[in-house]
Amino acid sequence: MNYDVIIIGAGPGGIFSAYELTRKNPELKIAVFESGHALQKRRCPIDGQKVKSCISCKSCSIMSGFGGAGAFSDGKYNITNDFGGTLYEYIGKQKALELMHYVDEINLRFGGEGTKLYSTAGTKFKKICMQNALHLLDASVRHLGTDINYVVLENLYGYLREKVEFFFDTPVDSIAVIDGGYQVVCRNASYTCRKCIVSVGRSGSKWMEDVCKQLNIPTKSNRVDIGVRVELPAEVFSHLTDELYESKIVYRTQKYGDRVRTFCMNPKGSVVSENTNGIITVNGHSYEDPAKQTQNTNFALLVSKHFSEPFKDSTGYAESIARLSNMLGGGVIVQRFGDLIRGQRSTPKRIEESFTTPTMSATPGDLSLVLPKRLLDGIIEMIYALDKIAPGTANDDTLLYGVEVKFYNMEVEVDETLQSRYDGLYIIGDGSGITHSLSHASASGVHVARSISESLT
Ligand SMILES: Cc1cc2nc3c(=O)[nH]c(=O)nc-3n(C[C@H](O)[C@H](O)[C@H](O)COP(=O)(O)OP(=O)(O)OC[C@H]3O[C@@H](n4cnc5c(N)ncnc54)[C@H](O)[C@@H]3O)c2cc1C
Repeated sequence: MNYDVIIIGAGPGGIFSAYELTRKNPELKIAVFESGHALQKRRCPIDGQKVKSCISCKSCSIMSGFGGAGAFSDGKYNITNDFGGTLYEYIGKQKALELMHYVDEINLRFGGEGTKLYSTAGTKFKKICMQNALHLLDASVRHLGTDINYVVLENLYGYLREKVEFFFDTPVDSIAVIDGGYQVVCRNASYTCRKCIVSVGRSGSKWMEDVCKQLNIPTKSNRVDIGVRVELPAEVFSHLTDELYESKIVYRTQKYGDRVRTFCMNPKGSVVSENTNGIITVNGHSYEDPAKQTQNTNFALLVSKHFSEPFKDSTGYAESIARLSNMLGGGVIVQRFGDLIRGQRSTPKRIEESFTTPTMSATPGDLSLVLPKRLLDGIIEMIYALDKIAPGTANDDTLLYGVEVKFYNMEVEVDETLQSRYDGLYIIGDGSGITHSLSHASASGVHVARSISESLT
């Protein structure tokens, strides 16, 4: 065998499995294959001047490369079982939390020291939310910020590159089961290993599907979250963000009984676009460094869509909606809430005259031509509900960017060690469909490394 362990994907799942393996078994020969660039080479060409919107790079620097999808993220590590994945269903709630705390300690040691840990424990907002038909989820959140998150990744890479062989710009084409292990096939060469950890995240979702089909690994999928990113003056939400930083609030609509939730809140942050398999959607982040902060806060409002038989392609459904916005707006569409309510499109002039200045250049348009009525009704209902706890949310100049989609990878069948039906083939992180966040993906990496370490000794 060329290696004891091959890890596919250098996102948080891959990084933390490599980290833990090198701690537990320093003698192991480990390789990491990553389709994206090394950290210092990752750069999104959008500069707001020459390149204003996504030009669909071959490898999206926002989604791929050392650090994975999380590299330029806000670096919010939510320590909770309430959201961010269902790792606890496999390993138990207590263990899942322990692993998330362990990851937090590592992040602090590698450059995150001094960053703030926020918590919903004992907050008055729980009651205020309940009084307004809103439900605030419990969590502690370590906010590294985009800048410190990058430093932590740089330091982790500095530590790992001495102990692990990295292959960047090297997508893995396929995995073959061989005697005593696996063959990992890349374009120009193939490599063998005893154990293989697959941690390909969301950008590897289609590839993961193919691998599961080829190897006959059972999967299931039926969920997707679709919505918009809301941007408003930071003051509107400051009472919540100052105390909690990020508040995950869930609302059940009166009209349809659908669940709408806030997601990825970025105080004084920026709205950004992201490219997943050629489809441009919206996201957001914020910096810890006050010099890089903006006047606005952004967060997503997402409606969960669960499909029942016979429809299986929830990802395809959301992609079609995102494609529609790309078709109408050439990328992301932005609309003032007031325009949406009055049934008129936003125009460049109306956006220019808006009291809220957009932090991202998007095409002014009409989201009602993109989002299905049921989803849009739910979003509008929740904006009015949020207006009760954060007055100003439903102002005319609140900006809505669309569409934001939270794709859930199909869930791959694995056991409590995150091992597939093949001995020594582990599937972890967002690519497994089990995690949807930095902390859960990282924790799954530590968990699998410990399982491998035990199996080898
Ligand atoms: C803009 C943005 C902001 C975010 N903010 C937050 C946040 O604040 N908090 C939070 O909890 N979560 C956040 N997320 C989500 C978070 O980044 C992911 O949940 C997390 O990165 C998942 O880790 P992972 O290791 O499973 O996958 P990823 O981070 O997606 O890493 C997978 C890696 O595998 C590589 N890969 C894919 N296919 C192959 C292949 N065939 N061969 C080789 N390599 C391959 C990819 O290039 C990628 O680098 C954000 C995501 C984005 C895009």
